[in-house]
Parts: sequence; structure tokens; C-alpha cells
Amino acid sequence: MKQIDLQEEREHIIQVSRELHEVGLLVRTWGNISSRVDKDHFLVTPSGIKYEDLTPEMISLVNINDLSFEGDYKPSSESKVHAYSYKVRPDAGFIVHTHQVFASCAGTLGVKKVFSYFDDEDVTIPVAPYALPGTEKLAENVARTLNKYKDSNGIIMANHGTLCLGGNSKEAIFEAEMMETACNDFLIDVCKTDMTHGVEVGYNSHLENGVVVYDQKDTPERVKRIHEQIYSKRRDINYIIHNKSEAVMTVSRRANHMRPLLDDFAQLIGVSVKIPDNEDEIYHNIKKNVNVVFSPNDGAYCVGSTEDDAQAVAIVLDKGCIAYMAVMRNGEGHYLSKLECIKMNRHYRKSYSKLADINKN
Ligand SMILES: [Zn+2]
Repeated sequence: MKQIDLQEEREHIIQVSRELHEVGLLVRTWGNISSRVDKDHFLVTPSGIKYEDLTPEMISLVNINDLSFEGDYKPSSESKVHAYSYKVRPDAGFIVHTHQVFASCAGTLGVKKVFSYFDDEDVTIPVAPYALPGTEKLAENVARTLNKYKDSNGIIMANHGTLCLGGNSKEAIFEAEMMETACNDFLIDVCKTDMTHGVEVGYNSHLENGVVVYDQKDTPERVKRIHEQIYSKRRDINYIIHNKSEAVMTVSRRANHMRPLLDDFAQLIGVSVKIPDNEDEIYHNIKKNVNVVFSPNDGAYCVGSTEDDAQAVAIVLDKGCIAYMAVMRNGEGHYLSKLECIKMNRHYRKSYSKLADINKN
């Protein structure tokens, strides 16, 4: 194996993360990247730091066999997934784990393989069975799938994201991009409609010294009433983003109840979200631990104590609604169990408040 300069490789990882961030395959702090440096070690991105803020010293060196690490930053909580993947795939020199939209949504339909095409060629993407994030079971499921499909350089992790590998970063990036295009086409076939993603903003607001400030001067009274109701019931929030993306609009028109199909939905949004039949019912649907309030036929209000939090909720809701539509059209899907969702939601809120405390100090 060629000698790798650790410092250079740390910078390379950051470079790759920026590239993937730019094309939208990596967002915020979600997902992670690693590079094998020798038979027993890999470098991996840290947990909980935005890709824009990464610096070389944050990339830790992790031992494949016992997960011990060198460096001041805690390596990604999914380091075990990377370690097990390197073990079963000696051909892997670089791994990219993403929560990319279309592939993640394709992984909620309960199928073992996703069949699609890319550049006129057939593509088969194996799906690793679901397990809770950060668990031994998840790492095992991924490793078993990678071992079974040795010809595949990319797999979907059910209800979560993807894992793409290659001899080098270029191959791993290609795999992630190819998979997203192939899964977009797959979902277009399932849903019989074009598929876009991204947050479309309607009427936003935030609190300033206890006063509601609307981003748009022409915010209708009807909408203002909803914002006020949300602030009155949710004393913990300061920002509301009105999400009117195509998928969120569709769900606000057609559905009456959403359960999590993706891990990040359970973590950031909540365990169960109701979509009211009429605006009078909205007030009763503003819940303490649910960070989305649907408005019938008019999208959803995504809330957070900071603008950043509200934005994260908006992004995750858009993806969750695409998954929801795909499962509805497909006629079946794999939902996360209520217990799993409650566990994840609690764990996330706990570790999040801890992180917020650290950032305050
Ligand atoms: Zn992940």
C-alpha cells in the first residue's frame, strides 16, 4: 500500500466534503467521509460539525480493529460502519456516507434491491436492512450487504442514507452521484411524476424581544394568526419557516397523518405528525415535541429555537414528504417502529441540548 501523508489526506477529505456539499449530496452535519490510510487505520470526519467549518485537525485517525482514535475531535458516530466496511472490502480506499435525498427515499420502500438505470445501463443497488443509527447491528447489516454484493460500490442503508466506496475518492464520489441520478429516475417511475427537492419558502417569521417579525410585509392575516398560535403554544421556539416545497404541498393536500420513514425525520421532526382537515384545527396540532405544523393545502410551518434549527427541520421535512409520497404511490413501505422513533427522538434531543450547552460555554 502506498505511503499516505496524513496531513495531505486530511485536507483532501475536506476538499471532497466541500465538493459533495456543493452538489447537495452532503448537507449540514449529516453523513461522513473517510479515507483508509493503511491496513488498520482510516481518517474520518467528526460528528456534529458543519462541512463548511471543517479544519484538518478535526479529522481523526481511527483504528479499524478497536475504533480507538487519535485527535481532539470525536470521530463520527458512524465510525463503526466505516470500520466494518473497510474490513469486508479490502478494495475500499475511500468511503462516503450520505443522507442524499433520492437514494434515502428509495430506501424506505421496503425493497431489498433498487433497480434503475444510468447512462442507458441497468443499475442494481442493494439495500442493507434497517437498524438504529450508531448501533453494532447497523454496522453488521452494512458489512453483510457489502460482503454479499462485492461488485457493488454503493448500497442504500434502509430508512437512513447511502454508503458509497471506491479505490479512491473519485470512484466513491462517482458512485454517490450515479446513485442519486438512478434513484431519482427510480422514484419518477414509482410516483409517475417529476421529482424535485429543496425548500420553497412561503411566509417566515421570527421573534425579536418577544415581538413577531414577519419576513414579508404582505403576510396575510390568516397566516399571521397561525404564526401567533405557534409562538403562543411553543415558548421554546424563535423561528418559523413556512415550507411550500412541492412534496410538502402535496402531503398538506392529500395526507392526514405522517409517521417517520427516515431516521432524521424521527430525530428532528417528531414521532407522529397530523395534517389537519381545516385551519381551525391547526391550533390543536401544535405539539411540544413535534417541530412541524401542517396547514391544510398550504404546506407546513417548520419551527426551531434558532434559524438554523428551523432550516434543518425544513430540509428534513421536504425529504420526508418525498419518501411519504413514494411509499403511498408504491403501495407499501417500511416504516420505523414507534419505539425506535421515540428512542431516536429522545436521544437526539438529549445530545442536542448537550451540544448547545457546549457551544454556549
Ligand atoms: Zn447517517
